[in-house]
Amino acid sequence: MANNTNNFTADFPILDQKVNGERLAYLDNAATAQKPRQVVESLVHFYEHDNANVHRGVHSLAERATEEYEEARQKVQHFINAADNKEIIFTKGCTDGLNLVAATYGEENIQAGDEIVISIMEHHSNLIPWQQLAIKKHAVLKYIELTDDGTLDMADAQKKITDKTKIVAVAHASNVLGTVNPLKELAKLAHEHGAVIVGDGAQSVPHMPVDVQDLDVDFYAFSGHKMMGPTGIGVLYGKAALLRQMPPYQYGGEMISAVHRERTEFADIPFKFEAGTQNIAGAIALGTAVDYLEKIGMENIAAQEQALVDYVLPKLEAIPYVTVYGPQDPQHHTGVIAFNMDNLHPHDVATALDAEGVAVRAGHHCAQPLMEALGVSATSRASFYFYNTKQDADQLINAIKATKEFFNGGTI
Ligand code: PMP
Repeated sequence: MANNTNNFTADFPILDQKVNGERLAYLDNAATAQKPRQVVESLVHFYEHDNANVHRGVHSLAERATEEYEEARQKVQHFINAADNKEIIFTKGCTDGLNLVAATYGEENIQAGDEIVISIMEHHSNLIPWQQLAIKKHAVLKYIELTDDGTLDMADAQKKITDKTKIVAVAHASNVLGTVNPLKELAKLAHEHGAVIVGDGAQSVPHMPVDVQDLDVDFYAFSGHKMMGPTGIGVLYGKAALLRQMPPYQYGGEMISAVHRERTEFADIPFKFEAGTQNIAGAIALGTAVDYLEKIGMENIAAQEQALVDYVLPKLEAIPYVTVYGPQDPQHHTGVIAFNMDNLHPHDVATALDAEGVAVRAGHHCAQPLMEALGVSATSRASFYFYNTKQDADQLINAIKATKEFFNGGTI
């Protein structure tokens, strides 16, 4: 059952406010999630008590900071069930992690004529790095297309992934369609053809249990800020054997074991990929966000969001002047719901909804090839998190109805 009232407002004071004189319904969680007090306090605590650079100092503050930073790595490791904490690389975010793989593994392993397979529903950050790599290397970029209900066409995946494929890169969950892709099946397919698979976990890790060993993905990237951590921190998971073979991404302090005039010996993973001073406070606060998620339980979070989708999706689909994209069946739809209202530009819709206190996003959602495939230039997008309620969902539906009346006096 979806919650009617928010049980989390004590932890999320930001949610308890009025916007344009109306109660705030924050439905832009796919863009970024709100941060509980515990995460904010963990940032403040670090800077007020423990701030020091990590791995370098022997003084007490440096040791404490290092311990907390490495503890955060272990928390992330357990959260996604990685086999080894060395497989967890702290990055700036999902985009940074995906670029890292393209610039290191991709740069080393892609030759002219090789094929890289992605899907048509990719966010630009899991598209442009591969597109540019393919251009540079004279490789071929192929897209797995969609079925009519906005899921990945697995028959097409079978055709596109061949022995020429060297890299498959696919979102675990779409940031537009609300689709969850069969990443485990795709990993199996990729491996059967000798390719590696890169998972984009930006929209999955915050919302469902993720087990990278069970998925058998080779790389998996996600962002801290979408799972209630701070901005500027993210994670790249990679299988240790692959990470060890890869060249560094950036050069500088922290990532070496010895530097000589003419050559450098690089540190072991993960430090080889963490050049320079990292976002130490961000990593520690991400660890606190992981604690928060684990306390609620990822199964419970997924169930709560499913209950919200079960409640709101049929209501949206029943509005005759609203088109919802992605799977029509709530059971196959995440809390990311892209929609359009007939004859209204999504930006106007988002502005009108804001006047009703409802925060949604409008635009191409960094997925222009997907917009083209859907035959639209943009959509509005409501995206739910576990702290949202039926009241938020009702406010969205009522605001859509009010928007129609505002623009056309009820005639559109
Ligand atoms: N992939 C997907 C599916 C996303 O939704 C996003 C963020 N909208 C990203 C990648 C990029 O994440 P970030 O901007 O935090 O690097």
